[in-house]
Amino acid sequence: MDIHCHCRKVSIRLPGQPLKLNRCTCSICRRYGALWSYYPPESVLISGATDTYIWGDKMIAFHRCQCCGVLTHWMHIDGDIGDIGVNLQNSDPALLDGIAEYDGHMKAI
Ligand SMILES: [Zn+2]
Repeated sequence: MDIHCHCRKVSIRLPGQPLKLNRCTCSICRRYGALWSYYPPESVLISGATDTYIWGDKMIAFHRCQCCGVLTHWMHIDGDIGDIGVNLQNSDPALLDGIAEYDGHMKAI
């Protein structure tokens, strides 16, 4: 499953459709309007230039396309510890039909 930002300069290849989607309500995600799914970092292929936003305890970086500014994913700053979050708002909505949503805070923080 391939998703991309609005201008298509950032692409993310996922190993498959998500089983669940997290419409996270934390202070940053509700502003972004993010819809997260989580994957092991080695299972995801990300290409394209991004800017990052890092705040709070500085454990994760939020990545945005350098061209269109769309939020694409977050990753841990200190290497591959746990899953990464991918913003499934960048997918075709029809591909997400029937996938359960929940509204918990991100499991990584
Ligand atoms: Zn873009």
